[in-house]
Amino acid sequence: MTSNSLAEHPDAPHSTTIPTKLMLIDGEFVESASGGWREVTTPARHGVVLARVPDGGAEDVNRAVAAAHRAWKGWRDQHFTARQRALLKIAEALEHRTEELAQVTAADTGNAIRTQARPEASALVDLFRYFGGLAGEIKGVTLPAGSQQLQYTLQEPLGVVGAILPWNSPLMIAGFKIPAALAAGNTVVLKAAEDAPLSILLLAEICAEHLPAGVLNVITGDGSTAGSALVTHPDVAKVSFTGSTEVGRLIAQRAGERLAHVSLELGGKNPSIVFPGQITDSLIDGLLLSTRVSRQGQSCTAGSRLFLHRDVEDEVIERLSARLRGLAVGDPLDEASDIGAVINETQFNSIRTYIDEGIADPDLTVAAGGTPPTDGPLAQGFFHTPTLFTGGNNEFRLAREEIFGPVVVAISWTDVDDVIRMANDSTYGLAAYVWSDDVTQALSTAHRLEAGWIQINQGGGQVVGQSYGGYKDSGTGRELSLEGMIDGFTQTKQINVRL
Ligand code: NAD
Repeated sequence: MTSNSLAEHPDAPHSTTIPTKLMLIDGEFVESASGGWREVTTPARHGVVLARVPDGGAEDVNRAVAAAHRAWKGWRDQHFTARQRALLKIAEALEHRTEELAQVTAADTGNAIRTQARPEASALVDLFRYFGGLAGEIKGVTLPAGSQQLQYTLQEPLGVVGAILPWNSPLMIAGFKIPAALAAGNTVVLKAAEDAPLSILLLAEICAEHLPAGVLNVITGDGSTAGSALVTHPDVAKVSFTGSTEVGRLIAQRAGERLAHVSLELGGKNPSIVFPGQITDSLIDGLLLSTRVSRQGQSCTAGSRLFLHRDVEDEVIERLSARLRGLAVGDPLDEASDIGAVINETQFNSIRTYIDEGIADPDLTVAAGGTPPTDGPLAQGFFHTPTLFTGGNNEFRLAREEIFGPVVVAISWTDVDDVIRMANDSTYGLAAYVWSDDVTQALSTAHRLEAGWIQINQGGGQVVGQSYGGYKDSGTGRELSLEGMIDGFTQTKQINVRL
């Protein structure tokens, strides 16, 4: 089997040989049927190519789906402990290679190793362990239907799951999908994001050592070819998609035409509401985490609309800006970096447009950050500094659109009903944050917010076992939990027997 680990330092600019990585189809590491390749570059240094990956297309997807379909019955019909054993072995193997997975993630996504890439790799391990452990909990129920009847349900797997990943935290999101689908007895064809396939190909290599051929297949390639072929394939029973709302809508239409199951984890423009009270260090720490600036703001759950009560606005802005200015933006592979690089030039320029618009707006003030550096080491890659605008209102484009960059807009408020109205005045409804010492106030606010995930007095990322998914344009379906696995990756069969 060809190795998919990056043998040499992935960011070596002097490297003359560009490593070649392969897709996993039917237990084999293969090139694309077309023979085409895509170059994967690092966002941290212009022009540095990390590796070449196959430019997979419809023919590769067809082969992968056929392999997954063939493998399905054997995988499904085993005792659950066999699937559990395999997933737990994978968790063990992943744990041994966490550092390598983190390094590869830092190199191709630009996510800083200490603050992002390593935690993502650890989350992946936890997710394999969690869903592996739950394989026996995918149970039906028996109805007390009297002595003459046996009426029970089975939770059966759907078949081949087509999973489509974004680039922002590929390992963690692969962990939301692969182990849950496999534990429930499905097989998987997964398409990696164009810009961040390397950690996913390494994950494929580790998984392949513990899974029968065809149970997990991993494709690299373009969304409009490989992704589209997966969504429209008649043998793909479910499409599990994480990405933008725009593409999610298209996928829902396409998969809906053939009545395939679909779950969508999409974008967000998440409110973070600070009530009056004491401004502690822990509040500022929590706010900093919730802004996801340490992930370059490239997080669907970033608290990017910061609603500050007028009584505490000045103090929060002053202390939060000081913390933002103190964060180290730099080489994602450097332990000292708090923040890495944004994924590519398109995203870099798009974020820049929002920042320029904010700077040009006479109502807005830059409390931290601003335009990206134009000289020095940071100018050699796609680096933005974390930026906080104050004086915003909820109607501004900066407060309405998902920037997917390290940009936060602070909006002042005085009336609770008004702030909840503004928080809910968004097409998105993924996450929200409430900061208050008054438990009743915090909970009643949480209950009134239109979002799938609300955190009170904390700002961290998703945790294993929680229910995760969006309201409104942020998507449909839930991942990460036992219930999400059963709802998302099984269907119910009712059996009624006359005794
Ligand atoms: P994207 O929608 O551009 O791409 C996501 C994936 O879809 C990629 O693998 C891409 O190749 C594929 N794709 C594109 N067009 C396709 C098509 N026509 N058919 C099938 N597949 C297609 O998103 P992105 O830019 O990679 O990621 C950023 C977006 O993802 C943001 O909007 C972010 O909020 C969202 N996101 C959401 C969550 C969540 O859990 N809700 C998590 C991470 C990212």
